[in-house]
Amino acid sequence: MITAEIITIGSELLKGSTLNTNAQFLSRELTQLGFSVNLQISCDDQIYAIATHLGQALLRSDVIIVTGGLGPTPDDVTRDALAQYFKVPLLFSKSQYGQIKKLYGRHLLKVPALVRKEAMYPENAIPLINRFGIALGFYIPLRQKILIALPGVPRELESMMLTLIKPLLKRFFPDLETKPKIVARTVGVSEPEVMRKLGKSFFKDNFEFGIYPETGEVALRIYADHQSIIDRLSRHIRKKLRDSLYALEEISLSAAVGKLLQSRNRTLAVAESCTGGLLSSEITRIAGASRYFKGGLTAYRNEIKVALGISKTTLSKQGAVCEEVAKGLATHIRKRMNTDYGIGITGIAGPGGGTAHKPVGLVWISLATPNKVIAHKYIFWGDRTAVQIRATKKALELLWRHLLHKEPV
Ligand code: AMP
Ligand code: MG
Repeated sequence: MITAEIITIGSELLKGSTLNTNAQFLSRELTQLGFSVNLQISCDDQIYAIATHLGQALLRSDVIIVTGGLGPTPDDVTRDALAQYFKVPLLFSKSQYGQIKKLYGRHLLKVPALVRKEAMYPENAIPLINRFGIALGFYIPLRQKILIALPGVPRELESMMLTLIKPLLKRFFPDLETKPKIVARTVGVSEPEVMRKLGKSFFKDNFEFGIYPETGEVALRIYADHQSIIDRLSRHIRKKLRDSLYALEEISLSAAVGKLLQSRNRTLAVAESCTGGLLSSEITRIAGASRYFKGGLTAYRNEIKVALGISKTTLSKQGAVCEEVAKGLATHIRKRMNTDYGIGITGIAGPGGGTAHKPVGLVWISLATPNKVIAHKYIFWGDRTAVQIRATKKALELLWRHLLHKEPV
């Protein structure tokens, strides 16, 4: 295996003020290319710390990608740390400086003196022009290994990785092979249930098995050395997890539901209370959702539920969180928006508002179809956000099951 390692540099990463998205992005891209990513290190903007980690990384890994700390201010020292480590001076890239002048010129600004530093690179490096921003990137070929330094700004890092680094790594490691892989996305089953359903016979070959719980979902990611193993696992998964498997690719549940709605030429509208628009938001994250999603109403306060058509008497007698209100939300929104399907959600997301009879986490979800209206009661655990996400996922799952099996849900 050709190994890779990522060193993200920035005190803000260690203090927790910035989420380390670069490490995730780079790990994903490197894995996809066929590297085995061994280690992610985050380190302070300190010359000594950077040099120490770099020295260790060079002993361990074939590819080392360093990001961050290439900015113009004195706290950004990555460039100097690398130059000191290799005991070489810094050189000036005229082309990157030209790019910097162009960017500043566009805003009618002069390049500040400090920014000149961002066009510098260690003498033993080959510059990588950053057309997406200011800071120059560079790489240092070291016999069989390669060290790459990229800017920390996520948008710039991502663009440079995709346009420059991926082709560079493929050239540098021509034998690189992407491992055969399978992704399986499931909903409505827990991790232990997935394991039980797969059974012992699933694990008879040698492969790398990953099972990951996400709120309301479980994802499987499996890598093997041979495609034949992946084919067998894939058949096994299809058979054993059929009732909860919504995709064999990295797509969201709302995308899977969207595909089904679109292929069946069906439309959807939703009326949500405790999820406050999260379901609409989840559905409309998918480009082209307007082909099947007509719209949503956040019927948060009772007066809006009444305006939609729910009876005041029901609300005062049974409260806003009950089967009848959920069904009312689903049927009225379906009629009002003239769609094939309507979804209604009403519940208590917490942290307040719960009673012994109606605890926090209680959610009623209803699906109205052209032929019937059904509703289910759930008690979700977790904080307010978790309850909202679980209710959203469950609503999508109800519709997914209906579309997939056309069975009574
Ligand atoms: P720098 O290259 O260190 O000047 O960082 C430029 C910007 O990118 C700053 O806003 C950083 O907080 C951000 N940044 C740096 N490293 C990362 C990282 N690993 N993940 C996400 N953002 C980062
Ligand atoms: Mg920084």
